[in-house]
Amino acid sequence: MTHAHTSNTAAPNHTSYDAIIVGGGIMGSAIAWFLARRDDFGGRILVIERDPSYEFASTSHTNSCIRQQFSTEINIKVSQFGADFVQDLQHYMGPDERLPDCPIQSFGYMYLANSESGAQVLRENQALQARCGAGTQLLSREELDARYPFYALDDILLASHNPINEGYFEGATLFDWWRRLGREAGVEVLHDEVVSITRQSGPEGARVTGLVTAAGHTLSCGLIVNASGPRAALTAHMAGLELPVEPRKRLTFIFDAAEALGQTLPLTIDSSGVHVRSDGAYYMAGCAPDDDAAVAVDDFDDRPELWEEKVWPAIASRIPAFERIKLIRSWVGHYAYNTLDQNAVVGPHPELANFYFANGFSGHGLQQSPAVGRGLAELIVTGAYQSLDLTPFAYQRLIDNRPLVEKAVI
Ligand SMILES: Cc1cc2nc3c(=O)[nH]c(=O)nc-3n(C[C@H](O)[C@H](O)[C@H](O)COP(=O)(O)OP(=O)(O)OC[C@H]3O[C@@H](n4cnc5c(N)ncnc54)[C@H](O)[C@@H]3O)c2cc1C
Repeated sequence: MTHAHTSNTAAPNHTSYDAIIVGGGIMGSAIAWFLARRDDFGGRILVIERDPSYEFASTSHTNSCIRQQFSTEINIKVSQFGADFVQDLQHYMGPDERLPDCPIQSFGYMYLANSESGAQVLRENQALQARCGAGTQLLSREELDARYPFYALDDILLASHNPINEGYFEGATLFDWWRRLGREAGVEVLHDEVVSITRQSGPEGARVTGLVTAAGHTLSCGLIVNASGPRAALTAHMAGLELPVEPRKRLTFIFDAAEALGQTLPLTIDSSGVHVRSDGAYYMAGCAPDDDAAVAVDDFDDRPELWEEKVWPAIASRIPAFERIKLIRSWVGHYAYNTLDQNAVVGPHPELANFYFANGFSGHGLQQSPAVGRGLAELIVTGAYQSLDLTPFAYQRLIDNRPLVEKAVI
């Protein structure tokens, strides 16, 4: 990703802000922009970002895809708004003649089921997605073979594919424009690290009152938004709160194939857990390591053995043409992984009402950023969600140990 429009201050312009957002990745930038554009807010907004190069941010390691094939209504609707938003930046962010187009390359995701229980999940998901207006289609092995003859399908019972508003989009474009227009609307971005948060108890419960940065700035604020990606638990901890979100490694591989498939490869989720899709003239594959555990926030060591041991065998047995491929490059990124249910945590803490979460997005935060940015801005300004109700993502389910089960996690 390029970050041509970054402009950060080394010292804050004020000692007090209405809203301070910890982390300036896609979430922090979305929330800042949605807040700044509201006529009914008018407060001072500060984004504090420890690394304005975003080298290690999840936002820079993303695969930048969007889908409606989820098993929960909220995730489907959140992504449907994401798809509307990115494809009509002029409507949502304009009018502004500088705004670029941000189309979705709708190659669709292809879920493959190799068991009757897996097939039943696809049927149920497709029914729900269809009720929500998504274009998901179920494909028998014969139908799949006729449309995509390159797959080896002996073990496959059923597939699901959605060719509408599902595929790749330029997440970097969205990120750049949120930051550029946010700054133009008065959002201040401070290059610094939040190291502690102060809270106070009062007759109406506890509240955060301010924070201290690594450079020694003490700032007071009306509210804090935790948008610190895989470091979210550290930021929550500063406010005295637990958050079961941890960094987990996810690997991405770009490869060239000697034998082209002759058509665009949908984002295919293999039963091995490896996923693979077209990436321009190349292909992209991704996976988790087998020993998927929490890693240190600064551990980005590559796992090159996974290419030979896991990814290549999996994709070559699913797509025999991929016997002859060449690895071009790979990278390691971190999911912000919610160990309860791998779903987002959005909204205030029930006992610390002016500390807001925008955390735990695993592998779907990029597509969720428009709906989460809009929703949190609504909640902050009006006290309630006005458009799409994001209450299913509320922190309370962590206290109640009530997972928001999403069966289509990648
Ligand atoms: C390999 C991979 C593939 C993915 N593919 C997709 C996909 O196809 N589609 C999709 O929708 N999503 C995808 N995602 C997920 C998506 O990229 C993330 O959910 C999203 O980028 C999260 O954005 P964020 O702003 O929450 O976190 P980040 O981008 O990590 O930003 C958080 C920022 O907070 C800053 N920060 C942290 N602590 C502090 C502090 N104390 N003080 C100041 N700054 C701080 C960090 O420096 C960082 O810049 C993928 C993720 C990965 C890793």
